Amino acid sequence: MKPFVYTAQAGRVVFRADVWSTLKPEVAQLGAGKAMVLCTPRQRALAERALEVLEELGAGIHDQAIMHVPVDAVQKAVKAVKEAGAGCVVALGGGSTIGLAKAMALEAALPILAVPTTYSGSEMTSIYGITEGGVKKTGKDPRALPRTVIYDPSLSLHLPLGISVVSGLNAMAHAAEGLYAQDGNPLLSLLSEDGIRAMTSGLRRLSQQPQDVQARSECLYGAWLCGIVLGSAGMSLHHKLCHTLGGSFNLPHAETHAVILPHAMAYNAAAAPEAMHRISRALGQPDTPAPTALYELAKSLNAPLALRDLGMLGSDLDRAADIAAAKPYWNPRPIDRDGIRSLLQAAYEGLAPGEFR
Ligand code: NAD
Repeated sequence: MKPFVYTAQAGRVVFRADVWSTLKPEVAQLGAGKAMVLCTPRQRALAERALEVLEELGAGIHDQAIMHVPVDAVQKAVKAVKEAGAGCVVALGGGSTIGLAKAMALEAALPILAVPTTYSGSEMTSIYGITEGGVKKTGKDPRALPRTVIYDPSLSLHLPLGISVVSGLNAMAHAAEGLYAQDGNPLLSLLSEDGIRAMTSGLRRLSQQPQDVQARSECLYGAWLCGIVLGSAGMSLHHKLCHTLGGSFNLPHAETHAVILPHAMAYNAAAAPEAMHRISRALGQPDTPAPTALYELAKSLNAPLALRDLGMLGSDLDRAADIAAAKPYWNPRPIDRDGIRSLLQAAYEGLAPGEFR
């Protein structure tokens, strides 16, 4: 066995289908006083329910979470927390809301209780991002890791099927890259494989019946495992490309992950055969190359397949390849600018992975 180092991330996870009876005792257990509930404007009704069950432990609602965590939104939220006398935050929502909580934790040392309602996995990581002057700065800081996470599959019952699918594929990307990470280890590989397996099964069932709570449970369980991997292993080509496309070309986060993943896997396939074998197995297609099996799954779930359908311009592909290849980073196959450019062309057109080589 290859030598490895594994550092466990501390954090309490409660998985049950009744957040409303769990929330108050879990906030009390943080021992940080009253909680401010954070959400997006769209999830205000859910936050009101949370505030109601928190009773005297609720300090109010701040419903101004937005994508990419602008620094002024963080300052406003911290001010609201201070004025309300809250000692901790409940982040109720997807990666954007949890991202706001993380930035607040860095600024004002506020413990976070996260209640995720998408499959982004952010709740299991200490990775944060803050946007200032049009640039998103990301980093890792243990203070950004939620102290408690409550997973309740019933909260995602009304997550639209299209968002559920791309969010699930976003989660699978963490696991896929975890399987070939330079700092991977046998435990993360187990989590990755089971995460992909559970997400595949859950998404297939959801596509038939989006309000099947068992299918939602499988997806959420998969999201948890994939999130642990994201928080523990170094990510490579796929995540760097998505960061470039989101940050410099404003493409939507989860949709971009869904389109890029089969192509990033095809780029890396020959350099990471064991990872590909495990991904194919987890996708339930042991005899099909992993990038093809993933592309076929995405197609069958009606996920977007082409960057041009997400608003990418063909005339920007050269610049995207330049940016993605500019700063060297570890990847199973060395980063070469022409290979990246071909990958982006295939993803732009929505071709099957590997077709543009
Ligand atoms: P999101 O949080 O932006 O949510 C998308 C939309 O869906 C929002 O309008 C939200 O209100 C709504 N929504 C969320 N849950 C819902 C539900 N159950 N029912 C109905 N509507 C719901 O999307 P996301 O994909 O979860 O997060 C994306 C952001 O998270 C990006 O900025 C990304 O960079 C970040 N992210 C960070 C990490 C990390 O480890 N730091 C990991 C993954 C993603």
